[in-house]
Amino acid sequence: MREFRIAQPKTVEELAALLAETKEATAIMAGGTDLIDELKSGVAAPDIVVDIQGVAGLAGIARDKDGLRIGPMTTIATLAEYAAVARDFPILREAALSLATPQLRNSGTVGGNLCQRPRCWYYRDPAAVCNKKGGARCFAFQGRNKYHAIFGGSGCYIVYPSDLAPALISLGARVTVGSAKGDKVMPLEDFYKPPSVDVTRENGLGRDEFLKDIRVPAPKPGHKGTYIKLKERGTWDFAVASAAVAGIVKGGVFSQISIVMGGLAPVPWRMKKAEDVLRGKPVTEALALQAAGEALKDASPLAENAFKKDLAAAAIKRAVLALVQPE
Ligand SMILES: Cc1cc2nc3c(=O)[nH]c(=O)nc-3n(C[C@H](O)[C@H](O)[C@H](O)COP(=O)(O)OP(=O)(O)OC[C@H]3O[C@@H](n4cnc5c(N)ncnc54)[C@H](O)[C@@H]3O)c2cc1C
Repeated sequence: MREFRIAQPKTVEELAALLAETKEATAIMAGGTDLIDELKSGVAAPDIVVDIQGVAGLAGIARDKDGLRIGPMTTIATLAEYAAVARDFPILREAALSLATPQLRNSGTVGGNLCQRPRCWYYRDPAAVCNKKGGARCFAFQGRNKYHAIFGGSGCYIVYPSDLAPALISLGARVTVGSAKGDKVMPLEDFYKPPSVDVTRENGLGRDEFLKDIRVPAPKPGHKGTYIKLKERGTWDFAVASAAVAGIVKGGVFSQISIVMGGLAPVPWRMKKAEDVLRGKPVTEALALQAAGEALKDASPLAENAFKKDLAAAAIKRAVLALVQPE
């Protein structure tokens, strides 16, 4: 492991000033469950690790009339156990409990989950200098690509590994990005950036910025949502394909619907064509499959991952049908 110094700011102002003033390479550390692996393998080699465990005000979760406010240092276990999440946003609880192991959910944070780096085996291999690490090729494109992207993969075919991100985007979550220049608020959907914007990053955070909070709007009457995660193994595993489906449903008809997929693209992938097919019509199994088929016409599978199209259709169908079941 390359030697680094550690900084431990105590307030968001100290954190913002440190990131703005430091000329050396920094890496923010929340729970450390992803970053420490990267430091050990040498895939991340910052001069300064900025430990944000002690920054006041970054942890905690609260429900008020406007919805849910989640501090980025809230652990995934806390999110899953929070009573208002189980009651009002069950899709978030499902996504939280679907990920990793109890130990990782106890240490890993919501902010760390939303900012985690990809699991692509070429990216994680310190010997493979791919596009994402400043190299000149994507090894997955013509290499082993069973788990890689079928959408949106220009120059880099990672899939974004977070289970929380699709669920939060389907709920219309917004994030606050903090820096010494002030706060920026944006939909979580816009926080993520495809490789065509900057192949070395998965989100738009500048080197002086950090994720400061996450807000989920209060559900409207008739709101329902569910997260279906398809994995290769019965034990902990990342999604090979997942579907977060949320919307307003009455009498088996969606008046609003949002479908966001995990495991298929370098960013959480919105299936707008499927939403258009489903909105306003009585949902049947045939309509759910037609909707999935419409959106999947845009997929561009690689040599080893065309099977993901079938999994994606199955995840959409299962989620949509679950939401139109009478209570
Ligand atoms: C064995 C294993 C299985 C896993 N399975 C799953 C799974 O099934 N689904 C899933 O979604 N995830 C899975 N994960 C990933 C896990 O959820 C993440 O490791 C964890 O959520 C990261 O949280 P952390 O607080 O430890 O982040 P850290 O490791 O501290 O940070 C992760 C990244 O986020 C950045 N970061 C953290 N906080 C901020 C912030 N506030 N602002 C800006 N940048 C920030 C860090 O710089 C770093 O790049 C798995 C991980 C492991 C090791």
